[in-house]
Amino acid sequence: MTDNLSYLEENDPAVFTALKGEEQRQKSGIELIPSENYTFPEVLATLGSVFTNKYSEGYPGRRYYGGQEFTDQIETLARERAKVVFNCEHANVQPLSGSAMNQAVYLGLLEPGDTVMAMDLSHGGHLTHGAPVSHMGKLFNFVRYVTDPSDGSIDFNQVRKDALASKPKMILCGYTSYPRDVDYAAFKAIADEVGALTMTDASHFGGLVAGGSMRNPIDFGFDVVTTTTHKSLRGPRGGLILCTKKLASKIDKSVFPGLQGGPHMNAVAAIAVTLLKAQTDEFKQYAHQVLSNAKTLATALIENQTALVTGGTDNHMMVLNTVESFGLDGRMAEEVLDKVNITTNKQIIPDDPNPPLRPSGIRIGTPAATTRGMVDADMQQLAQWIVTCLQNPEDEALLGQTRDEVTAFCERFPVPGL
Ligand SMILES: *Cc1c(COP(=O)(O)O)cnc(C)c1O
Repeated sequence: MTDNLSYLEENDPAVFTALKGEEQRQKSGIELIPSENYTFPEVLATLGSVFTNKYSEGYPGRRYYGGQEFTDQIETLARERAKVVFNCEHANVQPLSGSAMNQAVYLGLLEPGDTVMAMDLSHGGHLTHGAPVSHMGKLFNFVRYVTDPSDGSIDFNQVRKDALASKPKMILCGYTSYPRDVDYAAFKAIADEVGALTMTDASHFGGLVAGGSMRNPIDFGFDVVTTTTHKSLRGPRGGLILCTKKLASKIDKSVFPGLQGGPHMNAVAAIAVTLLKAQTDEFKQYAHQVLSNAKTLATALIENQTALVTGGTDNHMMVLNTVESFGLDGRMAEEVLDKVNITTNKQIIPDDPNPPLRPSGIRIGTPAATTRGMVDADMQQLAQWIVTCLQNPEDEALLGQTRDEVTAFCERFPVPGL
């Protein structure tokens, strides 16, 4: 690795300099974007390995190219480990990203025009859950359920009525900005009544399910669970589709040759590495600490007059209504925190009256900070910095001083692999 980087330094100083800059940025700031993380050093090494050179269209034992002795080994390892970690019958480890993984599920199990029930996007659903701007939103008919923003609850009588009326082929739960857990049993009962497939997109909390800190939809009889591998799971960028034996062949055919060509075998190898890590006690402890940190951070923010959507969190993330709390829209709040090396992202809130680029809030989460070893006491400090800066967005002296404090604080928490 070091050798390869010194080639880069010598032959492409522009890219090398940007890479070093990004390393420094990741070290000297606190990463609170809930979808980001610092991966394992072994994953970085595997991603930069010779597996990137190899074409492996097809599946282990059934490839369209020769020379597959070792790629077959790693893909089989990744699949078997995924089945153990998520307690499922079948795993496809080839999706190139979360978006491709969800597309492969819809395209493999549904017909164009079919109805899918999914969470309203401003209430927490993801772009790939049929946003009107997405291709999937044009191909399929998405009907929406909403949450009660005061506590995050879902009115299942209403969901049932809407499901009986719209007859979805699939009911999808899972989210990108919903700070609560899902009542899988309630969704499953409604799906069974209307004859719909059940799918959870666990992209954000896959690592917390793997670590045993959040419930596993498979245990509630869900047909399909998808998760990205680079968020709370701390692996390389990629996606996993976990499903029943019955759907295995449809899912595999949908990923390849339906949607993708050659899988990225360097990422598949890195997913195998991640899924062995996910079985360790250390990872269980990590997942537990992510949730504990989130609870502590949420409580500290609320104690400091910050309005949280749903009033708190049951997972690793929270959505702050910055307009209500500080008179700042989400873009302004994100910019103020950027100035002090605390990275967050602007976020629409349920039924947001403001547009997506100037929404009413920000979203923060604890997976990355926890990877660096931050614990509950550090969350108190973090809440103080966030609130003080958002209350005084124009106090350059305060922001400068906070930035110095954050940078010094970060030195206590090494980034894995750096
Ligand atoms: C992040 C995310 C995705 C998409 O993942 P990409 O790798 O960015 O394509 C899909 N669904 C949910 C719920 C997500 O949070």
